[in-house]
Amino acid sequence: MSNVEQTLSIIKPDAVERKLENEIKEIFKSKGFKIIKDKKIQIEKAEAEKFYKVHETKPFYNDLCTYLSSGPIVVMILEKENAVVGNRELMGATNPKDAKDGTIRKKYGISIDKNSVHGSDSIDNAKIEIGFFFKD
Ligand code: UDP
Ligand code: MG
Repeated sequence: MSNVEQTLSIIKPDAVERKLENEIKEIFKSKGFKIIKDKKIQIEKAEAEKFYKVHETKPFYNDLCTYLSSGPIVVMILEKENAVVGNRELMGATNPKDAKDGTIRKKYGISIDKNSVHGSDSIDNAKIEIGFFFKD
């Protein structure tokens, strides 16, 4: 039975700055993800605050939003069977120190805040996050 899903991926400023966009896209493609849409943008801090609103009570919220709006990012719609969980697995743990070998955060992440990629954490949030960046 087919269970094709879409999820939102972001290549964060630390990775775009290090010119890792194409390398990371190739990893997704080599793992069977289709990049349905993608664009390189820079967002305002207010937009980052909206995007990460779920974290507004966390101590890292302000720095996180400053960071996400600090430079260009690449936002992508990825599609694959079970894309949401598959992308989370391929990204690895939030803290690159805890991420397993073969994951993007293990390979490229600098620190818990500069961890190179974002990925939706549920099917519902994937729909919300795709709508946030790609309004048809
Ligand atoms: N983050 C941080 N400090 C923390 C936890 C998270 O700077 O102690 C940042 C990190 O960039 C992370 C983002 O906040 O990717 C969102 O946190 P979440 O727990 O949702 O992690 P993710 O879903 O990205 O793995
Ligand atoms: Mg998250």
